[in-house]
Amino acid sequence: MKIVRRIIIIAMLFFSIVSLAGCNKNNENNKLTIISTSFPGYDLARAIIKNNSNIEVNMLLKPGAELHDFEPTPQDIKNIKNSDIFIYVGGDSDAWIEDILDDIDTDKTKIIKLMDLVDTVEEEHVEGMEENHDEDEEEEVEYDEHVWTSPINAITITDKLKEKIIKIDTANKDLYEKNASNYINELNIIDKKIRDLVDNSKKKEIIFGDRFPLRYFVMEYNLNYYAAFPGCSEATEASAKTVSFLVNKVKQDKIPVVFKIELSSGKIAETIAKETGAKVLEYNTAHNITQQDFDKGVTIVDIMNNNIKVLKEALVS
Ligand SMILES: [Zn+2]
Repeated sequence: MKIVRRIIIIAMLFFSIVSLAGCNKNNENNKLTIISTSFPGYDLARAIIKNNSNIEVNMLLKPGAELHDFEPTPQDIKNIKNSDIFIYVGGDSDAWIEDILDDIDTDKTKIIKLMDLVDTVEEEHVEGMEENHDEDEEEEVEYDEHVWTSPINAITITDKLKEKIIKIDTANKDLYEKNASNYINELNIIDKKIRDLVDNSKKKEIIFGDRFPLRYFVMEYNLNYYAAFPGCSEATEASAKTVSFLVNKVKQDKIPVVFKIELSSGKIAETIAKETGAKVLEYNTAHNITQQDFDKGVTIVDIMNNNIKVLKEALVS
């Protein structure tokens, strides 16, 4: 499957080279352009460039779409090549980018991989998780790409992203410094709220009847977790064994909330809830947001604030 997808992308790449007739569509309006594959990079860049109409940031992924199923169009690849800064996450979710990196002119387009901006850890398989049946990947060490889910990482990323943006637009250095520091303040408030919440909670454990892209988050706040799948596993069906392990955990540890993540069917969480009487709540891991939220200008800070509300119920504070 993955190989076929890669071949299609490489074919597209050649097509895009042939069709690039020296015309730079993105820069027709003379704006500096930042492109981010997904929502986290888009959100942080948007916060940094706020109030400067001579620079814009665009997200490749359509609002509401599943990041892990994303496939670029020839126009997307053209736009990346014409951008001034290209932000991607790295890891399994946007592996297609590795195939086009060599074709990007780095004198023109600065490339930023979010996973390079913070310390990364390997994906973790905790007790009770579904085994990985994907033979292609069995031997590979996989680093967890969901670096933005920890507010502390989001702060580091904002700071480093700001430096890169200043490099392409030094004239607006003061504005970018000010915007970044405002956003970092907001993220610091989130961090403090979560620390207080965890400190004052009876439970220090969360259970996800879903994938678990929150490794960096739980590490930061010393929370225990159990989940159906690690990271952003492609699997969506859990075995009876996995479900019954999670059901027992919920019962044994008297966990009041079973989480599902955004854009998920929530079926596994519902099944566990039915068996245990726990409540299903959504934890938004901010891979992407709905069109409606996108139009409203919802930010990662908004999403994290909502997550604090649901965490409060789960941790019983
Ligand atoms: Zn993911």
